[in-house]
Amino acid sequence: MVELLEVFGDDLTVVNAARVSFAKESTKLTNGDIKLVKYLADHNHVTPFFHPQARFRLKMPIFIAREWFRHQIGFARNEVSRRYVDTDPEFWLPEELRERDTNKKQGSQDKRIQYNGHCIAKMKKHNEQSLELYKYLLDFKVCPEQARAVLPQCMITEFIETGSLAAYARLYKLRTDPSAQREIQELAGCIGNLLAEKFPISWAALTSYDHPSEPVLQDTVSHSS
Ligand SMILES: Cc1cc2nc3c(=O)[nH]c(=O)nc-3n(C[C@H](O)[C@H](O)[C@H](O)COP(=O)(O)OP(=O)(O)OC[C@H]3O[C@@H](n4cnc5c(N)ncnc54)[C@H](O)[C@@H]3O)c2cc1C
Repeated sequence: MVELLEVFGDDLTVVNAARVSFAKESTKLTNGDIKLVKYLADHNHVTPFFHPQARFRLKMPIFIAREWFRHQIGFARNEVSRRYVDTDPEFWLPEELRERDTNKKQGSQDKRIQYNGHCIAKMKKHNEQSLELYKYLLDFKVCPEQARAVLPQCMITEFIETGSLAAYARLYKLRTDPSAQREIQELAGCIGNLLAEKFPISWAALTSYDHPSEPVLQDTVSHSS
């Protein structure tokens, strides 16, 4: 689950962070500004993209969150703590189980396994048994911080994350790559769609995101440098 909570800034934030070098400021995005944003991204002048920020509420299974949390630079996160919370957790359960990739050491192929329903039912049962044991331990006065050890990796965790546009672009590019796990690709894709709406020019410049309605403005005043 990806929920955009708030954003700070817009495409002009990037433009004006760059234009301060020349003691200039744009009040309305021009074609010159759009060219400038593309130039900055193409030449790896990333600091202007540090200024816009986005905050999300994210929910994902622990095994994907572990990958997500590897992206550290430019992010702040606060996560639900199972040292405090001892309510029943949610569990991730797929509709389809994929076969492993025969050509790569890691990854999967599109092909669904033969005994899909059977294996998913087994996973569901495993989750239910884990939850039962968790509650059993709590009933025996085991503290939540130790009882949680029996919960599976597919348990859903929740966190609030704030990151710069540059940080999200790096995460997006790495995690929408076909070599990344499908489940993280989907989450990164959601982030990309939401940020493309809020920062259409900057996001397209940073990620080559093909936005269907990328605006082309009438060039009134060119501030391109
Ligand atoms: C498809 C895929 C497979 C992966 N497989 C594995 C795996 O098998 N095992 C594994 O451990 N990880 C794996 N990773 C995780 C990967 O190694 C990175 O930790 C992760 O992608 C985060 O990268 P990042 O550049 O966003 O990291 P961040 O830590 O957010 O760093 C951002 C950038 O800051 C700079 N930076 C950060 N730290 C340093 C530093 N110490 N010195 C110099 N520059 C720094 C780099 O330019 C870096 O790109 C995988 C990632 C992907 C996408």
